[in-house]
Amino acid sequence: MIEILKKMFEGIPDKSTIVLEEKCSDCGTVTIIEITATSGGYGLQGGALFKSSTGIYIDKCHSCYKASPKIDDNKKTVSWIKQK
Ligand SMILES: [Zn+2]
Repeated sequence: MIEILKKMFEGIPDKSTIVLEEKCSDCGTVTIIEITATSGGYGLQGGALFKSSTGIYIDKCHSCYKASPKIDDNKKTVSWIKQK
């Protein structure tokens, strides 16, 4: 997970925050996840981000993450990335 975020930030070195707008893999709600680089690592707000065993990225909105804080690899309806 950390490597993914590192790569994302390396792609846009002038930004300290990345905003992802993705559909929640569970409920389909459009979820806006804000990723902030901090001195100790990365902070995610608004949702959670996962890498599946197939190498794709999956996001979950905050409420689905709370209900089930892991990914369901059977769902592969994932698109990626819309940066702002
Ligand atoms: Zn959801």
